[in-house]
Amino acid sequence: MNWKSLARLAYGSRYAKVPSSQRVYVRPGERWAREAQWQWLIRRAPVLTLDEYAARTELGAIEEFLSCMMCGESRQQPLFEPAGGNGWRYRVVRCPACGFLYRNPNVRPERLGDLYAAGYSGFLTGAYAANRQRRYELVMRGFSPVFDEGKERRLLDFGCGVGLFLELAERRGFDAYGVDLSADSVAEAGRRLHRARAFFGAPEDVPEIAAGGFDVITLWSVLAHLPRPLEDFARFRRLLAPGGLLLILTVNAGSLLLKACGPGWNGFTKNHLMFYDSRTVRTLLRRTGFAGVAFAPHYGDSVEAGTTRLRPELAARLRRTVERGDGGNMMRVLAFADDEAIGRWGASLDVHRLLPPGGLA
Ligand SMILES: [Zn+2]
Repeated sequence: MNWKSLARLAYGSRYAKVPSSQRVYVRPGERWAREAQWQWLIRRAPVLTLDEYAARTELGAIEEFLSCMMCGESRQQPLFEPAGGNGWRYRVVRCPACGFLYRNPNVRPERLGDLYAAGYSGFLTGAYAANRQRRYELVMRGFSPVFDEGKERRLLDFGCGVGLFLELAERRGFDAYGVDLSADSVAEAGRRLHRARAFFGAPEDVPEIAAGGFDVITLWSVLAHLPRPLEDFARFRRLLAPGGLLLILTVNAGSLLLKACGPGWNGFTKNHLMFYDSRTVRTLLRRTGFAGVAFAPHYGDSVEAGTTRLRPELAARLRRTVERGDGGNMMRVLAFADDEAIGRWGASLDVHRLLPPGGLA
């Protein structure tokens, strides 16, 4: 019998009104069962040398084999083979040393453009745009008051797409810039925005952006797409002014939903390359010179926005499970460039230090 029929037997329709991504967080006993299922999966998965793994794994024309980028470990634990519409399929491995999940083989950075050959025009429409903007508002609210007021603050949205976030940023008074590798999207952003400006290319190609001095850099659903995260984050760190902040929204590879859904998890989408949890994202930030980090739990957009109303005892259980677990299915991360950033913005947040005060000697 599969989980779905088992769940129907055990829980009936009692949780049918809870959004499907949040159901695993509210059904009694499920957290325990899924954690046990995950531990069993990891214990059972073989640990292979990179050579052994490469010998038995097909390599596509635009692909390359990787070692773990977070810790350098070359051994591989094959875990999943997500697949979806239009015939895409890839392999996800786990690093047996640090637990990082990543696509292996991965896409060679110079061939990344092949993934985005089709345009973004489908993403411009009303409901999609409104949902995205609601999502951005909820993330900023999770770190309030840090992003409440943008006056006199210079902001860079990396991977700005058609400018949905830049639109909110300019409304809040930020001096906002965006970059994106899709020329069509940047052109659309240009039509949409008033004061904010979007540019085509990489940050170093655009003089206004290469000059740096940003108070805020935002990465909205971009992190999982980066094939060379350490290089990119070192660059973000350099582009930040003293006291600067990096805001990240990404899928959470530590989530209970991944443990429940395995290869069918909604974070395994066609163009995602690497999957972070609260531990591996800390490694990435520490290695690229960020001084501290804070997290805001994710209870589900519709629940937080109030369009899904849960009975009080269910809402309380959702909160508890998300907070005791790894923070929900999406990860909201605020990284602090230096001590000054922690001093200025960290007071109302639970900041974990990544570097000792004063930075590295
Ligand atoms: Zn590792």
